[in-house]
Amino acid sequence: MLELKQMSCGYGAFSAVHGLSLVLRPGTITGLLGANGAGKSSTLMCVAGHVGLQGGQLLFDGQDIGRMPATERVRKGIAISPEGRRLFKDLTVEDNLRVGGVIHPASWYQQDRDRVLSLFPRLAERLTSLAGNLSGGEQQMLAIGRALMTRPRLIMIDELSLGLMPKVIDLCYQALHKLRDEGMTVLLVEQNTERTLSIADDVCVLESGQSVWRGSAADARNDPSLTAAYLGLH
Ligand code: ATP
Repeated sequence: MLELKQMSCGYGAFSAVHGLSLVLRPGTITGLLGANGAGKSSTLMCVAGHVGLQGGQLLFDGQDIGRMPATERVRKGIAISPEGRRLFKDLTVEDNLRVGGVIHPASWYQQDRDRVLSLFPRLAERLTSLAGNLSGGEQQMLAIGRALMTRPRLIMIDELSLGLMPKVIDLCYQALHKLRDEGMTVLLVEQNTERTLSIADDVCVLESGQSVWRGSAADARNDPSLTAAYLGLH
């Protein structure tokens, strides 16, 4: 699966992440936690190929993907639901899903779309709505659905629950459970520490672009120094 080896990335001369090492186990959910500006989004965007790698290695199934164009990484099975969701707001829900599936033969569309709609039945009721008219929760489902249309093996989701109502967050987390049951590997960035610790198998905590803690979510929950110092839990 995915392995980050001493990965550094950033913007021009500015380095947002320095020497991050992380191994994602197949079929598990890894939670990436940390305060605003810690480098979580930059990490995801670097893996996706949208933020420049400055040092170290990115391995996917053992292959070095660090210099591979973003579209090639999608073909390899890496998808992202980015911060801010970046939907095509003037297109319908259905057309956003079509855009997600565009790298695959048209004959795959129906099956992949049906899979997304069974995961998020709410979207089935909104297929002809413009994405810009959806609620925040529906937009989040669509962003994840659009990423799933690429048939990924790794899905990275940035700020899953930010600004969403608890009921909608529940629906999104149920979907994550299902995806993991199907064997999907998930890299999850969250502000919501408690939710993350409740679903994640593994956890990595970033501070100022560096990893300050890595381990199982169970160990993270039981480490009082960690929960108090970095995770805002007491
Ligand atoms: P947040 O939850 O606020 O998004 P984060 O942990 O995801 O925080 P990043 O967004 O990765 O953190 O930001 C890491 C650092 O990179 C910050 O110092 C931020 O100001 C900087 N940064 C982020 N995006 C850019 C950009 N497009 N150009 C320059 N610097 C950036």
